[in-house]
Amino acid sequence: MSRKVITLAEIRDGSLRNVSFEAIAAAKTIAQGGEVVAVLLGESAQSYANELIYYGADRVVTVENEKLNHYTSDGYGQALMAVIDSEKPEGIVFGHTALGKDLAPKLATKLNSGLVSDVVAVEEAGGNLVFTRPIYSGKAFEKKIVTDGVIFVTVRPNNIPVLERDEARSGNVTNLSANIKDLRTIVKEVVRKTAEGVDLSEAKVIVAGGRGVKSADGFKPLQELAEVLGGAVGASRGACDAGYCDYSLQIGQTGKVVTPDLYIACGISGAIQHLAGMSNSKVIVAINKDSEANIFKVADYGIVGDLFEVVPLLTEEFKKLKV
Ligand code: FAD
Repeated sequence: MSRKVITLAEIRDGSLRNVSFEAIAAAKTIAQGGEVVAVLLGESAQSYANELIYYGADRVVTVENEKLNHYTSDGYGQALMAVIDSEKPEGIVFGHTALGKDLAPKLATKLNSGLVSDVVAVEEAGGNLVFTRPIYSGKAFEKKIVTDGVIFVTVRPNNIPVLERDEARSGNVTNLSANIKDLRTIVKEVVRKTAEGVDLSEAKVIVAGGRGVKSADGFKPLQELAEVLGGAVGASRGACDAGYCDYSLQIGQTGKVVTPDLYIACGISGAIQHLAGMSNSKVIVAINKDSEANIFKVADYGIVGDLFEVVPLLTEEFKKLKV
C-alpha cells in the first residue's frame, strides 16, 4: 500500500543536518512507492530545498516566515499542523533530535496518533512495516508495527543509511503561507555553549574521555585524535563532574545517546550509565590502564595501556594514513 509521507528537515548553523536525509530514506521505505514530501521552515527555507530533492524527496513544502527562523515548539507546531492539514499525510518522519523529541509527541497528541520513537531500522516483513527501536538503554531491541492511523516515527541519527545524492532528480518546491499566530516565547539569540566542531549526536567518529584524562588539559590529545579522524570529542559523566569538560559533552543515560561508526573510549571505566549512551556504536575501541575495566566487555578492540602514551601514537599513525 503506497502512502504519502512527510519529513521535517532540520537546519543548523546554515546547513541541513544529516538526519534530514536519513528521515527521507526512512520515509521512502514507509511510503512504499508513494510520495515523500520534505518540509522546511524559516525565511531561508527555499535555499535548502533542492538538496532534499537530490537526497530523495519528491517534493518540498516550505513555510517561509520569520517566526520560524528559530525553533520553538509553538511556532513549529503551528506550521507543521498547517502542512499536515493541507497535505493529509499517512506517514510522518522526524529526526530523534532535541527538536524531534520535543515536537513529535506534541503533534502526535494533536493528531490523536501513536508515535514510534527512536527508530534505528525500518523494513518490510510479511506485508507489514516493522520498526526496530532500542529498549532498556540499548540492551535489547523491540520491533513494532503500526496497526491504525498515521505512521508517526522519529529516527535516531546515524542509523538509517541515506539514499545516494543525485543532482539529476527534480521536484516541485512550493511555499505554504500558513498563519502563524503570535508566539508565546521568542528566541532572540542563540549562544552556543561549546566551540564549533562536529555535532556529537551526528558524529561518525567520537573520541571520548573519562576521569582517566585527569584534567582539562588531558583532553588535548583526545581533541587532536578527533581532529585527525574528522570526529567529535565526548566525555563520561566522571570527566564532566570533575570539571575537566563541559556537560554538553556528556554521553550516557543522563547525557547524549550516540551511535557513531567508531567510538574510542579513553580512560573510561564503562559504568552501566555510560554504556547506555554508547554501547550501540558500530565499532568500540577502549583504552584503559586497568585490564579488568568493564568497558572492555563492550569493546570490539581493547588496548590496555596509558592513554597519554597510546592516544598520541594513534594520532601519529592516522596522520601518516592521511598523507
Ligand atoms: P571512573 O569510573 O573513575 O573510571 C576512570 C577510568 O580511567 C578507570 O577505569 C581507570 O582505570 C582509567 N584510567 C585512569 N588513568 C588512566 C590512564 N592514564 N590511561 C588509561 N586509563 C586510565 N556516567 C556517564 O558517563 N554518563 C551518564 O550519563 C551517567 N549518568 C548517570 C546517572 C545516574 C543516575 C548515576 C547514579 C550515575 C551516572 N553516571 C553517568 C556516572 C557513572 O555511574 C560513573 O560514575 C561514570 O561513568 C564514571 O566515569 P569514568 O568512567 O570517567 O570514571
